[in-house]
Amino acid sequence: MSADGVIRVGVLGFGGLGQAAARILEPKTQMKWIAVADRKGYAYNEAGLDGDACIATVRDRGSVGYVDPYGTLSNNSLQELLEKANADGYFLALPNLPNTFMADVARMFIHSGWRGVLVDALKRTSAVEQLLQLQYQLQAAGITYMTGCGATPGLLTAAAALAAQSYAEIHSVKITFGVGIANWEVYKATIREDIAHLPGYDVDKASQMSDLQVEALLDKTNGILALEGMEHADDIILELVGICDRDRVTVGGVVDTRNPKKPLSTNVKVTGRTFEGKISTHTFTLGDETSMAANVCGPAFGYLKAGKTLHRRGIYGLFSCAEIMPQFVS
Ligand code: NAD
Repeated sequence: MSADGVIRVGVLGFGGLGQAAARILEPKTQMKWIAVADRKGYAYNEAGLDGDACIATVRDRGSVGYVDPYGTLSNNSLQELLEKANADGYFLALPNLPNTFMADVARMFIHSGWRGVLVDALKRTSAVEQLLQLQYQLQAAGITYMTGCGATPGLLTAAAALAAQSYAEIHSVKITFGVGIANWEVYKATIREDIAHLPGYDVDKASQMSDLQVEALLDKTNGILALEGMEHADDIILELVGICDRDRVTVGGVVDTRNPKKPLSTNVKVTGRTFEGKISTHTFTLGDETSMAANVCGPAFGYLKAGKTLHRRGIYGLFSCAEIMPQFVS
C-alpha cells in the first residue's frame, strides 16, 4: 500500500472484464490502477495508468504492450509484470482456458515471492477445487487469495449466504442469470466458457473453437445461449461454508450475445425451513440495468479491498466470496 493508504491495483487480462475494471477504477480514490497485462504485453506506471488510453491502444493495436510510454511487448507478460510492478493486489480477469490456467497463475505467484491479494472471478467448481489444493501454499507464501468473487459465483453466492441466515435448514439455492451483450467478441473467454457447458461441448472443445466456429454456433441459436445445470462453483463455495450440500445448488441462465438488454432478470432464490417449521423463499434480484461487467468487477474490487484488510492483519490463504463480506471501494 502506498504511503497515502491507497491500494495499488493490477488487472491481469484486458478483454471485456479487464477493460471494464479499468473504467470502474478510474474515479476511485481508495484504489489506484497501476499495472495491466494481456496475452501480448503489459503496461506499468507507479503513478497510475490512463484507462481510456489503454482501451484505445488495445482497440487500435491489439495489446497494452503498445501503450506509450509505459507498455512493453512480451510473450511472458504476467511473469514480467509481476517482477516489475509494485502492486498490492491483482484482479485476475483472465480466461480460465484450459481449466487449469488460473491454478497455474496462482502457482506462478506463489513461486515468485510476491506477497499481496489476488482476486478471481472463476466459474467452474473443478477450477475452485484446484485452488483449494493450493490453500496452504498460498498461506505460506503470504498471499490472501479471494476466489469466486465475480457475479456468479460472487455477488449472488454472497447474497445466498446472507439469505440463508433466516433458516434452520436450506433446501435449495437456485441461481438464474440473464446476460445481454451487444457483441460476443467483447467477452470472448466468457462466451467460450459458457459454450463449454452446452450439451456435446466441454472446456477443451470450446477453447479450441475458432472465432468463426463460435459465430457459426451463435448463428444457429440466433445469438442465444441457454444454459442449465451448469458446473458452477457457487455449489462448492456454499458447501464449504456449511450452508447446504452442493447438490442443492443449481445454476443456469440465458446469454443473449446480440442485444445488451438482459433476456431475463438475474436472481437467486434461497428456499429453506425456519426454526418455526415454515418453508419460505428469499429472492434477491439484480437490477436489469446493471451489466455483467458492473456485477462482476464491482464485487471483485470489493473483495480485493476486504482481502487487503485481511492481508494487513497477517491473514493469508484461500477465501471465498461466501466467507468474507466485500468492502465498498470509494
Ligand atoms: P476476454 O476473452 O474478453 O479477455 C481475456 C484477456 O486475457 C485478454 O486481454 C487476453 O489477451 C488475456 N490473456 C489471455 N491469455 C493470457 C495469458 N496467457 N497471459 C496474459 N494475458 C492473457 O475475457 P473476459 O470475457 O473478460 O472473461 C475473463 C474471465 O472472467 C473468464 O474466465 C470468464 O469466465 C470470467 N467471468 C466470470 C464471471 C463471474 O460472474 N464469475 C462473469 C463473467 C466472466
